[in-house]
Amino acid sequence: MLVKAGPTEEPIDPVRFVGNRSSGKMGYAVAAAAARAGADVTLVSGPVALATPPGVRRLDVRTAKSMLEAVQQETDGTDVFISTAAVADYAPREQAAQKIKKSAETLTLELVRNPDILATVTGRKRRPFCVGFAAETENVVANARAKLEAKKLDLICANLVGDEHAFGRDDNALTAIGASDENDLGHGTKHELAVRLIELIAHRLESQA
Ligand code: C5P
Repeated sequence: MLVKAGPTEEPIDPVRFVGNRSSGKMGYAVAAAAARAGADVTLVSGPVALATPPGVRRLDVRTAKSMLEAVQQETDGTDVFISTAAVADYAPREQAAQKIKKSAETLTLELVRNPDILATVTGRKRRPFCVGFAAETENVVANARAKLEAKKLDLICANLVGDEHAFGRDDNALTAIGASDENDLGHGTKHELAVRLIELIAHRLESQA
């Protein structure tokens, strides 16, 4: 199993970056639950302040580009790919070689689209069972369903994010959506939800076999 977790950081200059509020807790809980269930787990991780779960092989990356490279190297031989990472959608076009000085009154950053890592995996001929995560601030299920179809996923886990939900917290609420079914995994700690998700994936793989 391959899990990618955490945020990515896209450098502006040697001391600043464009980032997001992902703590990596959901992905680390998924990797831990999968390892406890007996899976051979590799975790590609953006910058987070979390300990590596027991029995998990961890590869640290920083940017979306380096996350893509790590995922591409690890995809062959993977049966299940779980993409919990909050990948930056855009990155600064250029990284300043030196710290940018605050001399100008305004500063414009030009951002360019990052590759969609999950879509590169689902676009492969031989692909693992692919699970995405959709963090939404509104219309959670409808937006997640659109991503399930657009990214050709086997399953997508939808969760509401914002100040009161998900980011950095130990609890979450997830709905796992497939092409023809919807499973409310309920509310609980990220560890409880991760166990329910791994059970659901195991059932799906069993029924496919
Ligand atoms: O950001 P978005 O809502 O499109 O994320 C949905 C899924 O796609 C998540 O599982 C995320 O990890 C993945 N994704 C990715 N590469 C991106 C953007 C998102 O793998 N550049």
